[in-house]
Amino acid sequence: MSRLLARIMLAVFMLPVAALVWIIAFMVLYQDLLRGREEQCFLVSGLAAAAFVGGYWVLLWRRSVRWNPPRVFGSVGLAIGAVAVGGLVAWPMDRLEHGVGSLLFGPTATFAWLVGTVLLWRETSRERASRLDARSGTALVCPACGYNLTGLNQATCPECGAGYSIDELLALQPGREDADFERAAA
Ligand SMILES: [Zn+2]
Repeated sequence: MSRLLARIMLAVFMLPVAALVWIIAFMVLYQDLLRGREEQCFLVSGLAAAAFVGGYWVLLWRRSVRWNPPRVFGSVGLAIGAVAVGGLVAWPMDRLEHGVGSLLFGPTATFAWLVGTVLLWRETSRERASRLDARSGTALVCPACGYNLTGLNQATCPECGAGYSIDELLALQPGREDADFERAAA
């Protein structure tokens, strides 16, 4: 199984595991910490599941995303927007049926953030072009800091000190996975 395929599988498993996190958090809160205060239990378990999803999602894709300032700050901005979306859905629903809003708020905000990150994190056509350019050249760069390692007779980066085996260095070249995936999907 390639690294990217493994990552896609892990992405598929994320939401079922998040649901499990939600249920476990709810049970613990409901039976013990918040004793029967249903609405607060809904909100806090939604928060726990959202924190799980946020951490999991960033860790899963951190190496596939080009982290420029618009993407970093945009992801934080998206989280704020997602809270607003969650509120816009939850508030009217809560007026229909009291308590439903606190149940829906966390999952709605989480999905809104996930959809936003996919749109924000995907590469632009310019980035894709530069990735393909870099691949057609012979440049070999440090996966950690981007320093050009071409021509060195060692696999340790003189700039940041990160060390790699030769196969790691090749596998971790920026855009390498995407290129492999596009080739496999074509
Ligand atoms: Zn380096």
